[in-house]
Amino acid sequence: KLYNLVQDLKGNIRVYCRVRPFLPGEPTALSTVEHIEEGTITIRVPSKYGKEGHKPFMFNKVFGPSATQEEVFSDMQPLVRSVLDGYNVCIFAYGQTGSGKTFTMTGPKELTEESLGVNYRALADLFLLSDQRKDTTSYQISVQMLEIYNEQMAKPKDILWTNTFFLITIRNNSQNGINVPEASLMPVSTTDDVIQLMDLGHMNRAVSSTAMNDRSSRSHSCVTVHVQGRDLTSGTIIHGSMHLVDLAGSERVDKSEVTGDRLKEAQHINKSLSALGDVISSLSQKTSHVPYRNSKLTQLLQDSLGGSAKTLMFVHISPEADTLGEAISTLKFAERVG
Ligand code: ADP
Ligand code: MG
Repeated sequence: KLYNLVQDLKGNIRVYCRVRPFLPGEPTALSTVEHIEEGTITIRVPSKYGKEGHKPFMFNKVFGPSATQEEVFSDMQPLVRSVLDGYNVCIFAYGQTGSGKTFTMTGPKELTEESLGVNYRALADLFLLSDQRKDTTSYQISVQMLEIYNEQMAKPKDILWTNTFFLITIRNNSQNGINVPEASLMPVSTTDDVIQLMDLGHMNRAVSSTAMNDRSSRSHSCVTVHVQGRDLTSGTIIHGSMHLVDLAGSERVDKSEVTGDRLKEAQHINKSLSALGDVISSLSQKTSHVPYRNSKLTQLLQDSLGGSAKTLMFVHISPEADTLGEAISTLKFAERVG
């Protein structure tokens, strides 16, 4: 409890790290990670990345390969719960493709109760807490699902029926906190509602990924939870929101090897991830100008980044030795925003 309190005093931006376990068939002889202890992860650095040795990186929290989905969620539970008090929250999963972002946010392909990811657990927890408060506050919870690909936004249904993206406009500073009125806002009140909705979203994403050569790793997928609470005695209304963002893979694409659409995708991903990094790092350094307008992603999340909003950047590391270069650049990104 004391530890959580200390973290809360540190401000509204937290950075966590998760290292996934080796998967069946992966060579385990060498790991990118030398050591994990409390909030520190120590990486093995061979000479080709600078001075040979070991480099520690500090986080608000580090989860090792044996951390369960439940442990991960219970650490972010207070953050999630603050949405019912009217806070705006953003939770990002960052990392190269294959590092475990979708596992953290959604879960593995075959979902079991234990393997449910943050998205499901967060909503289930909001339902539980809103029910506990039902004598004093009446809550309405609804969900929007969006995808950002090549700096354009789409909603799942569009993706199902056509591979053409419809440009959805973002309206910042709307009164009720809903910035993308064109994307369906689905009321949810049970975990089953959420599972059905997410299944639809993911099915749609899967359909398009075969058609478009696994686009899922090259788009940002965002589940937005809108909460409206009405105080039963005073009638006061509060709004809170939570964006759960499974970011596009952060791997650098070798520009000499890709051309055309693939190069354009890589440039858009690069641009939006660095725009996100710029926004979060200028917020954590409390600079006066925050460059929200440099990408669709930061524009979409403008109301939920900065001010009293709370941000959790969750970076993912793969243990595979040949991903060391990506692991180092992921950790450097995290260092910059933290
Ligand atoms: P990403 O979304 O970053 O591309 P995935 O979440 O799809 O990565 O993870 C890649 C693979 O590793 C998947 O098969 C996934 O189920 C598995 N995986 C990822 N994280 C874990 C974990 N913490 N425990 C067990 N398996 C994991
Ligand atoms: Mg993924």
